[in-house]
Amino acid sequence: MQTNFTLAQLADPNVAEADKILRTCVHCGFCTATCPTYVLLGDELDSPRGRIYLIKDMLENDRPATAEVVKHIDRCLSCLSCMTTCPSGVHYMHLVDHARAHIEETYRRPALDRLTRAMLAKVLPSRRLFRVALLAGSIGRLFAPLLGAIGLRPIAAMLRLAPSRVLGPGPAEGAGVFPAEGPRQRRVALLAGCAQSVLAPSINEAAIRLLRRTGHDVVQAGEGCCGSLVHHMGREDEALAQARAAIDAWTREIETEGLDAIVITASGCGTTIKDYGYMLRNDPAYAAKAARVSALARDVCEHLALLQLGAPARRGGLAVAYQAACSIQHGQKILKQPKELLAKAGFAVRDIAEAHLCCGSAGTYNILQPEIAVRLRDRKVANITRTGADVIASGNIGCITQIASATRIPVVHTVELLDWAYGGPKPAALV
Ligand code: SF4
Ligand code: SF4
Repeated sequence: MQTNFTLAQLADPNVAEADKILRTCVHCGFCTATCPTYVLLGDELDSPRGRIYLIKDMLENDRPATAEVVKHIDRCLSCLSCMTTCPSGVHYMHLVDHARAHIEETYRRPALDRLTRAMLAKVLPSRRLFRVALLAGSIGRLFAPLLGAIGLRPIAAMLRLAPSRVLGPGPAEGAGVFPAEGPRQRRVALLAGCAQSVLAPSINEAAIRLLRRTGHDVVQAGEGCCGSLVHHMGREDEALAQARAAIDAWTREIETEGLDAIVITASGCGTTIKDYGYMLRNDPAYAAKAARVSALARDVCEHLALLQLGAPARRGGLAVAYQAACSIQHGQKILKQPKELLAKAGFAVRDIAEAHLCCGSAGTYNILQPEIAVRLRDRKVANITRTGADVIASGNIGCITQIASATRIPVVHTVELLDWAYGGPKPAALV
């Protein structure tokens, strides 16, 4: 694609990067077939190619974002399915991230939208505030239909997703070291996370048990939110501040006792942490440290696949529908490892039709774009139901929450099944 940025515009490294990405697009349109919003809405402007043109036009003309551009960029899930399909290697993720930051800087959203986004950005990254919000939400669920009817759809969507039971802080949440059982072979940090540790502390508890049994010292470095949630909302300063704080916490560990890996059980977070090197490439104080953290970041299944787990302690024999989160399959290109681990652990893995399509969770998308999110969720659940599986496994808390809100089939994290197979307790969802 030909671009026409001026030299003055290209002096901005973010614009220069956008220019490079835009020039790789050959407008072939292959990406449209696998884009969930184009598949649902059939509008070229809700396809990757259409969004690329909108972004090009906005940036080249140095224009503030318009309501029309914002509508179509907001509808993008950042699922990155288009990146998997694109034969030309267009880095859509970096382009849309930059477009979102430009929107935040130049567009004044309607008051309710601003309020909802400010609240999500404040509450979700804080375990304490998120817990309080969920407790309030478990009561407020009753009012969700009413709030939806009077136009407060994001609030209604949030309440519908709130769990009926909210757990207090668990042992896997605070800073500390969980020592290896037996001789130590590796020392890894485990991202404590924000929303996941409140919604499903059992996930990191299972990861810690399994890692300890396989010779890992597991360090919780005391980092906060990785910044992924606000990054996808275009709130760049907040995202970079959260990223720097996490990098500082892990750097202390790297430079004292050392880390073999930074293990992550939420693949949405993993995709962002693996991108820290890029996000902070222009920050002289953090560029090298960020790149080092990104190089050490591993999804839990990616890490476990490098180990010799041996024969499972028990063979559950259950049929598992493996739901590949977009951030795992498109963001991190981790395709086989989770399924192979489950199969080796004795589960019968069932593939899901249209596995490349997002379930509609996508960070805060199911709150901010509830109608599209529900359509994608129901389509995903229908495809899962057709597999006849006993249980659904996923590697991302967003997908787990989204899918569990529409099915009676138990939904667990892949690592919970693996921990169970290799000697841990049965996941509570299966008891
Ligand atoms: S598939 Fe790639 S090159 Fe083709 S239109 Fe989409 S982004 Fe552009
Ligand atoms: S990230 Fe997903 S929703 Fe957005 S343009 Fe690409 S395929 Fe479509």
